[in-house]
Amino acid sequence: MFFRTFAVVLIVNRKIKVLIYMINLVLFGPPGSGKGTQAEKLVEAYDLLHISTGDLFRFNMKNDTPLGQEAKRYITKGELVPDSVTINMLKARVEETPDVKGYIFDGFPRNINQSEHLDKILAERGGQVDGLLMLDVEEKEIVARILNRGKTSGRADDNDEEIIRNRFQVYQNETSPVFDYYDKQEKSHKIDGIGSIDDIFARLSDVIDSL
Ligand code: AMP
Repeated sequence: MFFRTFAVVLIVNRKIKVLIYMINLVLFGPPGSGKGTQAEKLVEAYDLLHISTGDLFRFNMKNDTPLGQEAKRYITKGELVPDSVTINMLKARVEETPDVKGYIFDGFPRNINQSEHLDKILAERGGQVDGLLMLDVEEKEIVARILNRGKTSGRADDNDEEIIRNRFQVYQNETSPVFDYYDKQEKSHKIDGIGSIDDIFARLSDVIDSL
């Protein structure tokens, strides 16, 4: 599997500088489209760091931190946690991990403001979003999948059909413009999110290998 990670060695003011080019991917799509499942496989195949804002919130809720308590007020209703909280949390996580080859962002960015901040955070490290991969799954399938996941996930927001439909609505209204935002930069790719885990992984890999 070919993968683009390379370094450039420069001599600046008689000092050797090595610039490592990162590859940063946004795994995108409605809740329940398979982002978490595919992220696990992609991390292994491409040696990237997976950052899921949903997982970070759930970790904080489990440990009952002030951030977790704040996030819970929104997550239980299927609404977005305010940008002020989410962006700072994401930025801190990126800053904690200076030596990675790149990131798979999962569940972030979820609106245009978050996209602009992500671009800035990566630019500060000489990086950018290299590709947005959108798993395309329709609402009916999403609701069925999440209700099924809810039987074992222990997530309150996976167990109530009204909350699930609200999450899908929030995705359509606030999050789907992120696809167009990166499409204008010719970075967005739509992938059929129906099929076996391995088939979908193969579709994602084909796109990543062509970036
Ligand atoms: P997820 O696990 O990605 O489905 O996220 C679960 C919940 O966490 C979402 O329904 C939101 O309430 C919240 N959340 C996760 N990521 C974000 C984000 N980037 N911006 C705002 N809220 C988020």
